Formats: sequence, structure tokens, C-alpha cells
Amino acid sequence: MPTLSAIDKLMPILGRAVSKMEEPAVEKISEDSKNDAFQVLISTMLSAQTKDAVTHAASMRLFAVAKTPKTVAALTTARIETLIYPVSFYRNKAVHVKETCKQLTARFGGKVPSTMEELLTLPGVGRKTANLVLLIAHESGDNICVDTHVHRICNRLGWVRTRTPEQTEMALYRVAKKKWWPIINLYLVTWGQNVCKPVYPRCRACAISAYCPRLGVTKEGKA
Ligand code: SF4
Repeated sequence: MPTLSAIDKLMPILGRAVSKMEEPAVEKISEDSKNDAFQVLISTMLSAQTKDAVTHAASMRLFAVAKTPKTVAALTTARIETLIYPVSFYRNKAVHVKETCKQLTARFGGKVPSTMEELLTLPGVGRKTANLVLLIAHESGDNICVDTHVHRICNRLGWVRTRTPEQTEMALYRVAKKKWWPIINLYLVTWGQNVCKPVYPRCRACAISAYCPRLGVTKEGKA
């Protein structure tokens, strides 16, 4: 496990570096929609295993047609599929989006709930999506959102030794100071998309390479 100071030392360096990079799609959508919880929820559902540009374009196509739980629930699943294609698993996601919108309308008065327990009752919503909604749309300071980028990079850096994103989330609550919780996702997702890539991490171009043990890294990409 890292000392607190290792994370404290690297987070500001990462913060400076990612401030010059493009923001992840869901953050962009959140800003453009003035933190609309519904758009954050749906775009996060669409983002799983999908490139950012594809997520952004698909979300924009859907929200151009319908941007409330009620209006999205009124679309047919086939129409939602067409609008969100080519996000990964677009057929499953269309079913989940429609069902989630129906439940938001029927059970939550058309609002996105603000607790983990309630969010996890929605179809297709797991901890990653729920945490991101709580962090971005409900401005929670009590959550850490761990996706594959955060999971991979935290293990390469030796901040955690875990097998699943959920284990990483729980480990980070123990090893990271609370002030970093809301921004770990933004920094490490941006870092994972631009530098610490899954297969060929760009270690020679990495601002934190001097502090990184590169655990599990076998191949490096171009600088
Ligand atoms: S040095 Fe390489 S493995 Fe470590 S954070 Fe940078 S890109 Fe990732």
C-alpha cells in the first residue's frame, strides 16, 4: 500500500498535466448541460466500453430527440438503438436506458435519485455509473468512481493491489485522502485515455514516470 504522501505528491502533478488535455465525454456533457443529472446518468450508461467520441456523439443524438426521463421512455427501444448506435452493446444499453427512464418517471418523479442504494435499483446502473452521477451531478464528496482506467493505473502505480474495479474503489477509500476522492476519476480517466493506455502506456512521455513502479507493464508505447 502507498504512503499517503505518494498519492499527495502525484495528484497535483496529474492535475496540471490533465488540465491541458481534452476532458472525458461525460464531464463535457455535464458542463454543457449545467450538471443535468439525467444527462450525466444516461451518458455514463452509454460510455461503458465505448470510446469517448462515440459516447459524446451518441448522447448528443439521443438528447437532441429527447432529454427527459418521460420523453426518452416514450421512444421505442428500436429508435433508441438507432440513436445511440454504434456505442458498444447498443442493444442492451437501449433496453436499459428505456427501462431506467420508465422507472425514473414512475418511482422517482422524473428525478435522478441521489443515493447509491436508489441508483443501484435502476437497470444497467452499477457502482461506477452511480458513483459518477453522485460525484458530478449531485456534487458528492463521499464517493470515488472507479472504471477500468482508474483500476488499471492505481495498480500500475502500486496505490492498490486489487483484481476488480470494485476492490480498487474500496481500497482507495482507505489509502487516498478524502480531498482527492471527487477528482481521482477525472484525473486518471484522462490520464488513461492519453498517456497510461491499456496496452501500450506512453511511459517515456509520462509526467509521473519517475514515481511509477510500472507494476504489470510489459510493453511501452511511443513517447
Ligand atoms: S510511467 Fe507508464 S505505467 Fe506508470 S503511470 Fe506513467 S504511463 Fe502509466
